[in-house]
Amino acid sequence: MTSQKKIEKKLFGTNGVRGVVGKDLTPDLVLSIAEAFGTMRKGRIGIGRDTRTSGETLVHAAKAGLLATGCEVVDCGILPTPALQYLVREQFDGGVMITASHNPPEYNGVKIIEPDGTEMGDAETVKLEQIIFSRTFTPVPWDRAGKESYSPNLLEHYINAIVDSFPPDTGAGMTVAVDPGSGPACLTTARILTDMGCHVLTVNGVIDGTFPGRMPEPTVEGLRNLADLVVSSGAAFGVAHDGDADRAVFIDEMGRYVEENQEFALVARHICHENPGTIVTPVSTGQVVERVAQLEGSDVVYTPVGSIYVARAMRSLIDQGRKIIFGGEGNGGLIFPAHQFCRDGGMTAATMVAIQKESGKTLSENVNLLPQRKIIKDKLTTTRGLRIIEALKNEYSQEKTDQTDGLKIFRGDSWGLVRASGTEPIIRIIIDADSDANANTLHQDLRSSVQKNNET
Ligand code: MG
Repeated sequence: MTSQKKIEKKLFGTNGVRGVVGKDLTPDLVLSIAEAFGTMRKGRIGIGRDTRTSGETLVHAAKAGLLATGCEVVDCGILPTPALQYLVREQFDGGVMITASHNPPEYNGVKIIEPDGTEMGDAETVKLEQIIFSRTFTPVPWDRAGKESYSPNLLEHYINAIVDSFPPDTGAGMTVAVDPGSGPACLTTARILTDMGCHVLTVNGVIDGTFPGRMPEPTVEGLRNLADLVVSSGAAFGVAHDGDADRAVFIDEMGRYVEENQEFALVARHICHENPGTIVTPVSTGQVVERVAQLEGSDVVYTPVGSIYVARAMRSLIDQGRKIIFGGEGNGGLIFPAHQFCRDGGMTAATMVAIQKESGKTLSENVNLLPQRKIIKDKLTTTRGLRIIEALKNEYSQEKTDQTDGLKIFRGDSWGLVRASGTEPIIRIIIDADSDANANTLHQDLRSSVQKNNET
């Protein structure tokens, strides 16, 4: 386990600030966030956005706040969050991404990016929030006001960095179907795969903040058109992104959705096979990843839930001398440390091309070769989440447990995780077991404990 612990934040959740535009998320709020960020950090700040209709308004609010506090601003336009993170590490002193990731179209949000390309950590975010709440901004006088400047071909840097990570023509002869979901990956993923030599077909490939083809969260239902395209075109696989393209999910050659823990395990197997080491992931990630890592002479370190905890743990473990080769979450958000320390959907799509090329097998064959686990995901509505978790820690104190995030109970080859959501009044239960029977027993046990403690 790592020493990473969550710190309570008021405005920022696990992935920045998010809300319904005009209600929770206003230009005023974005202005304040940018003024606070500009008060804390100086220099050249890259600003980007996803394709949401409110993006342009909010970008201007962010620019105003940064310029007023003396920052230089570079408008990077519409681009995936990982593209902005890459550019910040490469050429800026910080970044502001206007995005609500997978939320519906009426939402928007802000992610703050540090000079190393990672999202701002908890301790710094709490300082940022304090500046916002106390309104202790430090605007600069008239003769030191910030300026907007331009930087050409920004997306090319990101696209080329990914393409250059693979041997030339890795995708030659391979057809891939891409569904960027009308989001910013319309500008990147098809280009990346084409530059790798793939023949690329797209669905929902035109930028549109109303998301006419499907919602920004990739789901089995939403990816039906992609699945049809994969099957009818004979593509090797289909790939789809969430609304800011830090995540990628896959459709196999038979049109079936690849469960994200299995996706994680497939990529992990590929990376560990080439270069064994340590993988970093939250406690909620399926055991299939650890099983695959062990088979390839690698191991796994677990963190609290949230990609930022994974990214920061990866960096601190490297500083401690550990060989960290890969990280990510069981939702299609994968982190390739040789490329950068954040989830990257474009890099994930490109890596799947390399996996298919090297394995010589179909994607469904590769998925079938993975260790099989029984997973149950359940949730219960309650406003007493944290108190229930505390009660469960007492109740299960005689068993082997882990408290990195919520309570994880180990029984033989199986485990159950009970967590209170940080954003909704719910408790989540995840079971990862070696058989249906063990999964059901553990699930019923944990569910009835949660219910019992919710009533008392
Ligand atoms: Mg996202």
